[in-house]
Amino acid sequence: MDAILPVTDKQRTRSRLWYVTPDHKPRGFIQSHALEELWFHTGTACNLACAFCLEGSKPGDDRLNLLRFHDAKPFIDEALHLHVKQFSFTGGEPFVNKDLIRILDYALQYRPCMVLTNATEPLLKRLLQLESLHKQPNTLHFRVSLDHFVAEMHDKERGEGMFAMALQGLRALHDSGFRISVASQSIAGLSVNQIADGYAAVFRRAGLPENIPRIEFPEFYPPDSKVATPQITRSCMIDYQTGSARRQFMCAFSRMVVKNGEECRVYACTLVDDDPDYALAVTLTESLQIPVSMKHHRCYSCFRFGASCSEIKR
Ligand code: SF4
Repeated sequence: MDAILPVTDKQRTRSRLWYVTPDHKPRGFIQSHALEELWFHTGTACNLACAFCLEGSKPGDDRLNLLRFHDAKPFIDEALHLHVKQFSFTGGEPFVNKDLIRILDYALQYRPCMVLTNATEPLLKRLLQLESLHKQPNTLHFRVSLDHFVAEMHDKERGEGMFAMALQGLRALHDSGFRISVASQSIAGLSVNQIADGYAAVFRRAGLPENIPRIEFPEFYPPDSKVATPQITRSCMIDYQTGSARRQFMCAFSRMVVKNGEECRVYACTLVDDDPDYALAVTLTESLQIPVSMKHHRCYSCFRFGASCSEIKR
């Protein structure tokens, strides 16, 4: 199905800007074609407090509540009916959430899973519990945040010693046989090769493979930031995106479950949980019927740079 259809979401009220740009042009939209990846937001609590965090996470933070096993299970079951290919988990720091191992143990019975982590104390404390997940038939993959290949640059926001601890976590996960990758923000002023060489040297010194897959993200800014980006209109989506390019937007093939207060809602993707317009529905099935507006400033990163949190092969 084409991804530029006008909105048919009759049943709920969203802000006017969901539908039109500030200068009254029709918005661009994405119509989802499948649920290939289901993300769970495990809660915004984190053991670290980085100023740049796109989730605004910090110790004790409850902007988004901790997701419990009984919250996640119905969505896992519904997603299986919708032929999901993978479950993925982000936070906050997912290992701050006491229910994460139980959720993974259940989800891994059915599909591969991926967890985004800072690989510091909350993960290191659970390494023994993680071993038990090897008994499940599907693979578990960890994406570890390593902001820079220079320790001082990583530790500037995350705190002294966090670079070394993250490498310790990465090494422990790798030695235990889990799949690993590394996430960073894009690093300005260096060539692609210089960055790749910098990370390869760090991995080598840590006793890790030099070619660990890496994913770089543009600046997303903290929640509720007012960021001036070009507006994405309906004609932008036609003139600058092909049909197959529109299918690569995360909101075309994934959703994220978020617990707000006591209620779980299905959001359009991993990048828009600070805007209630993107809380599409309370079930996955209903959420897939709702065309997703390109109104969030982070949509421009998807439009312009092809930003995506997904690592599934498509
Ligand atoms: S941030 Fe990207 S994936 Fe999310 S709704 Fe916007 S365009 Fe879609």
